[in-house]
Amino acid sequence: MPVDPQLLEILVCPACKADVELKTLAANTCAVLVERYREKFRDEVPEVHEGLRCTKCGRVYPIVSDIPVMLVDEALPAEG
Ligand SMILES: [Zn+2]
Repeated sequence: MPVDPQLLEILVCPACKADVELKTLAANTCAVLVERYREKFRDEVPEVHEGLRCTKCGRVYPIVSDIPVMLVDEALPAEG
């Protein structure tokens, strides 16, 4: 199930409170995130395909098995 569009509208970057936008993640980035979250999903392999990118600071918050992880500590740093 995709992330609820209405949920997307109310989500903001926890670091700077700016809007976030859906972003497809590179395959190698997804692989790293799957390994990172695997131990938290005891009965299933987590699925990671997209993230939410902050329009201001550029941090990317991963969406893990359709759950947006809106934590600064777990965000991917802004790209270049
Ligand atoms: Zn931000």
